[in-house]
Amino acid sequence: MRRATFLDLPPLRTVGGTVQLPGSKSISNRILLLAALSEGSTEVRDLLDSDDTHVMLEALRQLGCIIEPLSARALRITGLGGRTAHAPDASPALTRLFLGNAGTAMRPLTAALALMGGEFELSGVPRMHERPIGDLVDALSALGCRIHYLGTPGFPPLRIAHGGGVPPLRLDAPVLVRGDVSSQFLTALLMALPLVAQTRDVVIEVVGELISKPYIEITLALLARFGIRWQREGWQRFTITAGSRYQSPGVAHVEADASSASYFIAAGAIAACPEGQNGLEIRGVGLNSIQGDIRFIEAARAMGAQVTGGDNSLHVRRGAWPLKAITLDCNHIPDAAMTLAAMALYADGTTELTNIASWRVKETDRIAAMVAELTKLGATCEAGNDFLRVTPPASNAHWRAASIHTYDDHRMAMCLSLAAFNPARLPVRIEDPGCVAKTYPGYFDALFQVAQADPEDIPVICIDGPTASGKGTLAAEVAARLGYHLLDSGALYRLTALAAGTAGLALDAPREDALARLAATLPVRFLPECILLDGRDVTQAIRTEEVGMQASQVSQLPRVRAALVALQHGFRRLPGLVADGRDMGTVIFPQAPLKVYLTASSQCRAERRHKQLISKGITTTIATLRADLEARDARDMQRSAAPLKPAEDALLLDSSELTIDETVARVLQWWQARRPFSA
Ligand code: C5P
Repeated sequence: MRRATFLDLPPLRTVGGTVQLPGSKSISNRILLLAALSEGSTEVRDLLDSDDTHVMLEALRQLGCIIEPLSARALRITGLGGRTAHAPDASPALTRLFLGNAGTAMRPLTAALALMGGEFELSGVPRMHERPIGDLVDALSALGCRIHYLGTPGFPPLRIAHGGGVPPLRLDAPVLVRGDVSSQFLTALLMALPLVAQTRDVVIEVVGELISKPYIEITLALLARFGIRWQREGWQRFTITAGSRYQSPGVAHVEADASSASYFIAAGAIAACPEGQNGLEIRGVGLNSIQGDIRFIEAARAMGAQVTGGDNSLHVRRGAWPLKAITLDCNHIPDAAMTLAAMALYADGTTELTNIASWRVKETDRIAAMVAELTKLGATCEAGNDFLRVTPPASNAHWRAASIHTYDDHRMAMCLSLAAFNPARLPVRIEDPGCVAKTYPGYFDALFQVAQADPEDIPVICIDGPTASGKGTLAAEVAARLGYHLLDSGALYRLTALAAGTAGLALDAPREDALARLAATLPVRFLPECILLDGRDVTQAIRTEEVGMQASQVSQLPRVRAALVALQHGFRRLPGLVADGRDMGTVIFPQAPLKVYLTASSQCRAERRHKQLISKGITTTIATLRADLEARDARDMQRSAAPLKPAEDALLLDSSELTIDETVARVLQWWQARRPFSA
């Protein structure tokens, strides 16, 4: 599926309700690797379903682990239990692993595979090849491992050249590793070295100050869960106890991501609560999480958020408003601290985040990226090697409708989505919104479930026109490109006709009241892949020519039309709607900011419909179809209730000579021209 190039967020007003968070990326990939290294099978529950876990799972499969799905929320991994890591039937010569942009796969796999024997090539996307790994490779090389750089020294791609077995390792002296570039180097060694600690203690010493200590705490907590004994002296020296051996705990549960929680904690602190509701509940992670990023809550509280919670959930409400500007050393919450930069947009002064040098070597240079994007929104930023200062826009007039570049960085997209709560009520464009898939594929859907906008701020694009003009295809494609909902209003008339048939109701004026009652209470459910009427899948049944004709009959009845208005208005949901029909622009959404009236000659429409039907194996002639179409057009245009005609402010588009792609491009161009974002 094509990834949307942008998603426009309408100005958001309030948040309330409940959001269920997905599993943590850091915990997911650690548990996957530990299960793979263990003896026995592990049932992994609530694993995050994301780009980074997919590459890890694929790599483990290539290495010979058996992975079986158990349910939508659980899978079973049978680990290698000390076996050499390659599929038994594959050539042991060379295994090539592609690890995308997942640092949580690249670093630990490099260390583990280097201690297991075999020939491996590890590579990723171009950005992965710019993310440092030299300190880890240095530590492994000092042990005696043979690892070669295939591109720039110090960076992936890498080759581990242990085809003839692991060389003798120097384990008598402590393994030294730098701790001030990425804590993932230490995590990688902590997870790999138990493989060679059968007969002696193995000691790791950190050189330089260790950053991101909370991530090391997660690693240590999980090692213990998988049977590894360890000790630590401060944050400088770690010992894996001799005789440690990976053992599956049987079941491993993945806690939700505390950094993902940060966006909702921030939203709850920034936005008022809808009347009659009591704040926002966040499920999947609680106050006692093993994740260091949970301490984001302290920072959010310092800025004004009211946060309470239990073991597996949090509750947030807006407290101080505007938020209070803070100065904070963020070393303990490296990822979640980005969310503070977005909250700073709503503070009463300048917020200063310090000790954030690690931001520069993440998915992108996050300090530079934050400065660029917050500035576009109207904030004033100052930054150095390891700090960022953010001063909010001076007044509503200083906010800008910005198109936010996201740098293939999930956290940039999620953080900057919080700008949609701006008091200037400007929309915010998020470029490449699909990048959130790295840790939280459903992020925007979750945001739209708990955030509310004023209905008039939710954009509607109307596409009206006669039968078979190509509206349906055009509307569906425009909706997909914009990430908007789709209203196929014709389907509602078709459903009414079908339901009337089932109820034995004739489709004529004497039955108008009964038909209107039926329309007002249609037991319909629109699911992503199908339409259910009273629990029955009627997706195909409503598409026949016969039902189309019957729909055209019931649509003549004014009370039936009136009965369907509320249902149609209900489709106007965040982040926007593309509505296709006959009266979308004239009657249902008269205030819509873009109305298109799509036509094509009746000959052309009949030919298109003919092609469609032939491909479905239905035989008919073009002449019959054309006569039918013209009859339907005439009825739609001549009826007294909401006759088919272009809205006064509609843009006319004759598609007779255009391809589908050309009509889509034209409509998207018109839409772009009406948006406030500068290119
Ligand atoms: O667009 P579709 O062919 O599915 O619509 C079926 C019938 O429903 C149309 O022929 C038209 O008479 C009626 N209709 C309508 N108003 C709409 C959509 C459809 O009257 N907004």
